[in-house]
Amino acid sequence: MGFDIAIDGPAGAGKSTIAKGIAKRMGFIYVDTGALYRAVGLYMLDKGIPTDDRDKVSAALPEITVDIEYENEEQQVLLLGKNVTPYLRTQEVGEAASVTSAYPEVRDKLLDLQRTLAEKYDVVMDGRDIGTVVLPDADLKIYLTADSRVRAKRRFDELKAKGGDPDFFEVLKEVEERDYRDSHRETAPLKQADDAVLLDSSRMSVEEVLCTIEGLIREKRA
Ligand code: C5P
Repeated sequence: MGFDIAIDGPAGAGKSTIAKGIAKRMGFIYVDTGALYRAVGLYMLDKGIPTDDRDKVSAALPEITVDIEYENEEQQVLLLGKNVTPYLRTQEVGEAASVTSAYPEVRDKLLDLQRTLAEKYDVVMDGRDIGTVVLPDADLKIYLTADSRVRAKRRFDELKAKGGDPDFFEVLKEVEERDYRDSHRETAPLKQADDAVLLDSSRMSVEEVLCTIEGLIREKRA
């Protein structure tokens, strides 16, 4: 049995930065589970399947295979054997993932893959339901959050840095809508596991969050 760390929290809380940092420092494998849901969303968009039609989305699932590979320690997502990683991090694909990930059929489809990875390796896995559903026995669970305005500002800066001209209030609205959808769905909603440690990164630097988690890992391993 390896040592598994679950990091859950809302969009923009900094989960992937933190999970990657911890994985690097500890020599663990980082699993970005959002990318798996994004691959499903991408497939639906490519095929013109309306993401809000649960029956059509579910009917398309048997056509899909989603796998993970690592290249230079970076996660690559294969959709039907094709590396789709470069296409996953758009706003449109994120929205499609947020809608389709609410369907239990989609979540079931991706569950085995996530659990198999955690059985094989020491993982830091980030997502929405890792501590509650995917790895309920994880050795350490973190619920990483931040104020929605802080998260929207981070996203806004990211879009600007990429050369975009975002509207802050539009970005804030999208962040709040995504939070609402992720935490109000029936299956595996975003919520803090009872035994998760709550970290609010609104006023913490990346380094502070990483050091706090390293301390928690040391305590667990002691
Ligand atoms: O984390 P990321 O923004 O890449 O996730 C995209 C969407 O996938 C989220 O808005 C959420 O709806 C869904 N997701 C999920 N469960 C996970 C990871 C992501 O439902 N474990």
